[in-house]
Amino acid sequence: MSYKPLDSKVEIPALEREVQRFWEETDAYRRRVEIQEGEDRPHWSFIDGPITANNPMGVHHAWGRTYKDLFARYRFMRGYEVRNQNGFDCQGLWVEVEVEKELGFESKLDIEAYGLADFVKKCKQRVLKYSAIQTEQSIRLGMWTDWNDPEELRKLAEALETPLEETTYVGSRGPVTGTAEWLVGNLGMPELGGSYYTLSDENNYMIWAALKSCHKRGWIYNGADAMPWCPRCSTGISQHEIVTEGYRELTHTSVYVLFRLRDREGSLLIWTTTPWTLTSNVAAAVHPDLTYVKVKYRDEVLYLSKGALKSAIQDQKNVEVLGELSGAEMDGWRYSGPFDELPLIEEMGVPEAHRVILWDEVGEEEGTGIVHIAPGAGKEDLMLGKQYGLPAPAPLDDFGVIIDGFGWLSGVHVYDSAEPIFEDLRKKDLLYRTQRYTHRYPVCWRCGSELVFRHVSEWFIDMGEKLDKPLEEVTGEEKERNLRYQIMDSANEVEWIPEFGLKRELD
Ligand SMILES: [Zn+2]
Repeated sequence: MSYKPLDSKVEIPALEREVQRFWEETDAYRRRVEIQEGEDRPHWSFIDGPITANNPMGVHHAWGRTYKDLFARYRFMRGYEVRNQNGFDCQGLWVEVEVEKELGFESKLDIEAYGLADFVKKCKQRVLKYSAIQTEQSIRLGMWTDWNDPEELRKLAEALETPLEETTYVGSRGPVTGTAEWLVGNLGMPELGGSYYTLSDENNYMIWAALKSCHKRGWIYNGADAMPWCPRCSTGISQHEIVTEGYRELTHTSVYVLFRLRDREGSLLIWTTTPWTLTSNVAAAVHPDLTYVKVKYRDEVLYLSKGALKSAIQDQKNVEVLGELSGAEMDGWRYSGPFDELPLIEEMGVPEAHRVILWDEVGEEEGTGIVHIAPGAGKEDLMLGKQYGLPAPAPLDDFGVIIDGFGWLSGVHVYDSAEPIFEDLRKKDLLYRTQRYTHRYPVCWRCGSELVFRHVSEWFIDMGEKLDKPLEEVTGEEKERNLRYQIMDSANEVEWIPEFGLKRELD
């Protein structure tokens, strides 16, 4: 027996290229497909969770795709007939934001001025360009599947300049002739072969069909909600999107502000990290069971929680505690808000609505133990506002600019509003102090802009109420009325590997 000497220096990329060449020369993938055709093998189907075709592939994509490829190869080697289709995610802001950057746009208005049809065309062309690049990268990675010819994808991107002219596309199952628009809309279909594209006509029709089906059941409604909003993208962001990758460590200037009490001496001391929301303050929340103190500090009488006293007022030498009381005793106290003179605030009856309310979620770990509530600018705020029947002035438009009716503040962008607000509060003698504050703050996962909470009118799909019983006990009629349970029901049909997959999905 003899062994070939093994070089101690292995050049891995060269080795990979050599293997790749061997696969190409022997047409290995095609032969694998041929081998499994016409034989009575068990079926194994894999549909790729698509990669967004907006940029070249990243290392993290390569990692996941390697595993996917591994599973398909393993099943084939175990004698299965493997249906394995790669996919490209083509829609939404991931692609749009990149095209906006390419064209030098700053907001949605630029898209409208450019023309929606032309913008959509640019998005499709970008998808074709980067799906070609990602295809090449995936082939280089060693993935085996039915790939589109990258050059054909590039030609199709060019042909899309005149979308209604006929052209021929050489798909993995032979040449197909049609208008460029039709060909793009049918990528991934059996006659064209190759990867599936979420911009396909079939997928778009399925989405519309699903919406129609929800509409028929009365599940689609126009409602108001306080939602995280990106002023740059001019769109709402779901809570889910924030939880997954939407926080950054940011430093803002927070502010301690006085709310002057109307029916007694002194002021509530409140603290906020979002000064713009003060323009729309309606209430001040205290915890019913916390201990609050009345203190004299220099010339002011202030109310704040006992536990927050030391951190809120650093100059403790000049603090004189005049008394203690529970939050519950402050319930209903009236006060004047810091921006009661603004026209819209007056018009909406906010000055008369100001009062101290009780809320179990108030803490004293940071701030003053008194939480300023602006129902038009925060999620819990809106919930409390509804509970107490409070007005909800909403100061920002789609682009984060303060709307008409806010006097000198109207037209100011939310990102530029902190300093002028501090200045105004100082003039009114309501600003106690500012403080640099570093916290985890939500940002737009698409463009990195800081999010704001807006009170908006949006379209929603009603999931139905949360029924607190196991799926087996939900009756047919309850299920029919409840989208949540229909989804659970169909998910129940799936064989989950591992078994706890469904529970994880629902939690
Ligand atoms: Zn954004």
